[in-house]
Amino acid sequence: MKEKAPTDDVLRECLRQWGTEDEALEEGPSWEDKPLHGLYHRTITEVADLKKSYRWLERAGLKDSTEALILAAQEQALSTRAIEAQLYHTRQDPRCRLCKEAPETIQHITAGCKMLAGKAYMERHNQVAGIVYRNICAEYGLETPRSKWETPPKVVENDRAKILWDFQIQTDKMVMANQPDIVIIDKGQRKAVVVDVAVPSDGNIRKKEHEKLEKYQGLREELERAWKVKVTVVPVVVGALGAVTPKLDEWLQQIPGTTSDISVQKCAVLGTARILRRTLKLPGLW
Ligand SMILES: [Zn+2]
Repeated sequence: MKEKAPTDDVLRECLRQWGTEDEALEEGPSWEDKPLHGLYHRTITEVADLKKSYRWLERAGLKDSTEALILAAQEQALSTRAIEAQLYHTRQDPRCRLCKEAPETIQHITAGCKMLAGKAYMERHNQVAGIVYRNICAEYGLETPRSKWETPPKVVENDRAKILWDFQIQTDKMVMANQPDIVIIDKGQRKAVVVDVAVPSDGNIRKKEHEKLEKYQGLREELERAWKVKVTVVPVVVGALGAVTPKLDEWLQQIPGTTSDISVQKCAVLGTARILRRTLKLPGLW
């Protein structure tokens, strides 16, 4: 066991003060032996459809480097400040380089940093919502935005449907949330669909799905009353690292047009890869 003795003075001093040096060396695993592998799997087991959550690996056709980056992120195998501080003892301050408020973990960077919320997360969110939006437009023969970076118009309409994008809807009664990502009004079928998209951290996908459903019930009631149509609320939730709930496919099928779960998954994961590369300033290899 001698060769596994910590070479780091700070660590050795910590262990000495905790009085665990002997135990740590004799029985406890060194940090190198810690079972980091499988951590992500355990995190999402309770909330996700495991098979579908990994399917983007085979079917999304991502570059090898992007695939490797996301897999590394899933296993916390990227050098964030919290990981450097915890595992390698090369850094004293584990806090996020951007907001300086929370430990800089993978989860924090990919879905929890307020400094990334306004632009980077919004961009990723809009890309995912944009896929759904374009498929809806195609279904009704409405003009689709030319580039995927182009923000859709607030309202598009023809004789078959009216589609609202990020549109604040006025209701008689005040409702908690009145600006969902997309609203589809199908004139022929006299129905409307309220779609809201989220890309939370992977452990939160199920909670987020419920949250979205509940958030728009007030709006649903108001719209049914005012527009005299049947209204359905549909959450589209994909974890930042690709996890999806067993229900995602069902939700997507309730939206006019054809949107595959793999397409929204791929889009979310690509957005996350972009955020990780930029924030952690990863070398070209990634
Ligand atoms: Zn932060």
